[in-house]
Amino acid sequence: MVIFRLKLLNLRTMANLNMDAAKSNTYDVIVIGSGISGGWAAKEFTEKGLKTLVLERGRDVRHIRDYPTTNKYPYEFEHRNELTLAIKNENPIVSRCYAFREDAMHFMVKDKEHPYVQEKPFDWIRGYQVGGKSLLWARQTQRWSDFDFEGPARDDFAVDWPIRYKDLAPWYSYVEQFAGIAGNKDGLAELPDGDFLPAYPLNAVEDYFKRVMKSRYGDRHVISARCAHLSRPNQIHLDQGRAKCQNRTLCQRGCPFGGYFSSNASTLPWAAKTGNLTLRPFAIVESVIYDDEKGKVTGVRVIDANTKVVSEYYAKVVFINAGALNTNLILLNSTSRRFPQGLGNDNGLLGKYVAFHNYSARISAEYDGLKQFATDGRNPAGGGYIPRFRNVTKQETNFKRGYAAGFGASRYINRDYSGIGETLKDNVLHGRLGPWIVSSHMMGETIPKESNHVSLNTSKKDNWGMPLLNISVSYDENDVLMKADYIEQLTEMFTAAGFKKITPDINSQSPGLDIHEMGGVRMGHDSGTSLLNNWNQLHSCANVFVTDGACMTSTSTQNPSLTYMALTARAADYAVRMLKLGEIV
Ligand SMILES: Cc1cc2nc3c(=O)[nH]c(=O)nc-3n(C[C@H](O)[C@H](O)[C@H](O)COP(=O)(O)OP(=O)(O)OC[C@H]3O[C@@H](n4cnc5c(N)ncnc54)[C@H](O)[C@@H]3O)c2cc1C
Ligand code: SF4
Repeated sequence: MVIFRLKLLNLRTMANLNMDAAKSNTYDVIVIGSGISGGWAAKEFTEKGLKTLVLERGRDVRHIRDYPTTNKYPYEFEHRNELTLAIKNENPIVSRCYAFREDAMHFMVKDKEHPYVQEKPFDWIRGYQVGGKSLLWARQTQRWSDFDFEGPARDDFAVDWPIRYKDLAPWYSYVEQFAGIAGNKDGLAELPDGDFLPAYPLNAVEDYFKRVMKSRYGDRHVISARCAHLSRPNQIHLDQGRAKCQNRTLCQRGCPFGGYFSSNASTLPWAAKTGNLTLRPFAIVESVIYDDEKGKVTGVRVIDANTKVVSEYYAKVVFINAGALNTNLILLNSTSRRFPQGLGNDNGLLGKYVAFHNYSARISAEYDGLKQFATDGRNPAGGGYIPRFRNVTKQETNFKRGYAAGFGASRYINRDYSGIGETLKDNVLHGRLGPWIVSSHMMGETIPKESNHVSLNTSKKDNWGMPLLNISVSYDENDVLMKADYIEQLTEMFTAAGFKKITPDINSQSPGLDIHEMGGVRMGHDSGTSLLNNWNQLHSCANVFVTDGACMTSTSTQNPSLTYMALTARAADYAVRMLKLGEIV
């Protein structure tokens, strides 16, 4: 009898302990990933008073404290900010990314650390740390227009977007005001204006090209690139502890002024100030837990990156913001009796219709005019932007959709290293300005296709026992035709401007290096052909939301991150309203 009582006591104590542990691991909301989109989810939920747990697989990176190279001079880098052959050989994938240099490589995933399976060549560029790729991005930020949201329905590909520009417009304004976006109001239907800080001006040759294009074509525009920099901070930016951008153009190192938008400088510290944020670095989300009895998701399963100990966290709502392809991986790995093929995957389309941006062509030239001008300032926006001009209002080419293009002009100092003694010193000290070099790169829309997909590898696992991701994504005929058109049109445009030595460069860059991978968990009207509804909510599981690139039904030509931010803020607002109404319990 005594033994029985003791056993009962022990069972009760254990049950209490388990309940205490479950309670201390319970939050209102769980956000997976702390990059650009996860940072926004964290900000929105904590500001609205919800206890929010952000789970991040990488290490912590605190604003300023963890930017070790931010104030280094070129000569303070062991290899003058270059890569050694050994590093390149060890990292053939990530070293193809321009940002992978001595000053920022500590923010980028090395090839051997996190392998994946390339069923077709795909350069998967990642940043696994608090802040994700928001520390590294080039900060180009443009809104979508209805030409983009209506694209799939009009041009008959993918599925119709369940939202239109008017649904997102107020959320674009909302995130632009907080993040700080520099740009001009250009009044173009294909590229809606935003709530801008002053733009960074074009230089003399960029402006000349703009004028030639306007007079020659009328519908081809060269505008100041719109970018997430504080050209003139407002009070809301100062309140975040950020200051005016100093035009250092060393952004990929992390900016001590908070001059550009990153989760680390902006959304995460803002969320922390509310007292409602718990941020857990080194927490790899293995899967999302679906409770077959309750018929809903109850939380997530997490592997500690250092100890490999597995634990569970619970919440009423889960936002998945692990970066497009990792979000696909987590959902595919979240199986249950109800969802044997992955969470929300009733139609078998999870992981399919992945798309990206076609960046595989460039063109450069020289310009002999305007030699009285030089470029001795730095432009953090990077120069000009040519919004899409092909097939905008009607189909006019032998390929679908179109491309935007970057455009920049600069002059380099030519240094003469000949001679010895005083002559050499004089030559090196007094370099002469060279000709203007102009260049452009293509940013093409690609068509999402079922055959472009990701899946879980059935035999290979990573260090933490997670299945490796198979990536099977490639260009198609449409991309090839579009690329040829870009070269033809830009050659014509450069010729019209009197540029000389025009040199096209059709490279063999693999998909992925554009770092704009999207899709796999697309939005749509119909649960038979899409995974998410118009609020980024899984059709078949109301308390799970996906608001990173995985949700994208099509890709447009614009840089995508501003749209992820706006979608995230909008979906978080909806989720909070549904919680209050008891529609999500
Ligand atoms: C060099 C470079 C230039 C770029 N330039 C631009 C640009 O000019 N404009 C633009 O719009 N975009 C640009 N991008 C792309 C932009 O960075 C991404 O679109 C954006 O960061 C995506 O945000 P995200 O929240 O989806 O993912 P991320 O910012 O990548 O964040 C995802 C986070 O999730 C974490 N995570 C992944 N798996 C798990 C898991 N299982 N458990 C827990 N955490 C996990 C990751 O560690 C990461 O921190 C650029 C990117 C790079 C690298
Ligand atoms: S250009 Fe602006 S945002 Fe970039 S590092 Fe310099 S001050 Fe910071």
